[in-house]
Amino acid sequence: MYVLGIEGTAWNLSAAIVNEDDVIIERAATYTPARGGIHPREAAQHHSEHIGPLLREVIQGARDRGIKIDGVAFSQGPGLGPCLRTVATAARVLALKFKVPLVGVNHCIAHIEIGKWKTGARDPAVLYVSGGNSQVLALRRGRYRIFGETLDISVGNMLDKFARSVGLPHPGGPRIEELARKAKGYIPLPYTVKGMDFSFSGLATAATEAARRYDLADVCYSLQETAFAMLVEVTERAMAHAEKREAMLVGGVGANQRLGEMLRLMCEERGARFYLPEKRFMGDNGSMIAYTGLVMLKSGVSTPLESSGVRPNYRTDEVEVRWA
Ligand code: AMP
Ligand code: MG
Repeated sequence: MYVLGIEGTAWNLSAAIVNEDDVIIERAATYTPARGGIHPREAAQHHSEHIGPLLREVIQGARDRGIKIDGVAFSQGPGLGPCLRTVATAARVLALKFKVPLVGVNHCIAHIEIGKWKTGARDPAVLYVSGGNSQVLALRRGRYRIFGETLDISVGNMLDKFARSVGLPHPGGPRIEELARKAKGYIPLPYTVKGMDFSFSGLATAATEAARRYDLADVCYSLQETAFAMLVEVTERAMAHAEKREAMLVGGVGANQRLGEMLRLMCEERGARFYLPEKRFMGDNGSMIAYTGLVMLKSGVSTPLESSGVRPNYRTDEVEVRWA
């Protein structure tokens, strides 16, 4: 079975075709804000300018390989409303044109499913950390339950905000990681875990304050150590509660080597296995939507046109996981 998937919840517009075995083709167009953070309307404008040529290229790629598309998947949410609408419109048109089923995919679940597919993890506790989301999830009784999540902004957004406040370009995560490697010492910053949830906006403010008085590399290092320790603590607790012997890291912030190292250590100490997908499958990508669409279609799930409206606040636990 071949499924075309389109991702475009925020900064990355990406389309891909996958089958059960592999990614056949993937193309992306990245929106980079001229200044400041992601502007929803500008991002949507970017997506609508690029989606035509992007899809043409991917569909041509399928034709060149003699592939017939069996379904069209799109990221239905969560994400920025205007961006989601651009993607959903294109997906509906293609499903009608090819006369194949349409399937709306939950973006967070897609991160998890592609991670499992590519790493071989079977039933992990998942730390999903990106520009828009920070959640700890695990499959329980047929749904991806959210064990813990941010009470305010995501960890990626926090890193990007702090970076902007000290004059580093967007996205801030990679630059902070680079600088943190040159640090000489730790500066105490607020550590906020409440039950199974965490909060990052106070940490961003405190780090911005600290950067006025301390070496920037030391602040970047301390910011990472503090934020990541919070995430690892909650992931470990979720593993204990849900009795999971595996952990997996997904989402764009997962590219951070220090975060991977901290999770790996925690897993080693618990005798659990740690899974880290390749970088290209960690941030937002079309393949994850195509692949999740494929497993959904194979389990008999599709989305009729009348239910294909976008869902900016789509929660993972609203989805019944029939394919696991
Ligand atoms: P996503 O929304 O999943 O595509 O992830 C985007 C987020 O990942 C942005 O907030 C980036 O700053 C962050 N990010 C990317 N690379 C790194 C890195 N090496 N360390 C920390 N954050 C990163
Ligand atoms: Mg994402």
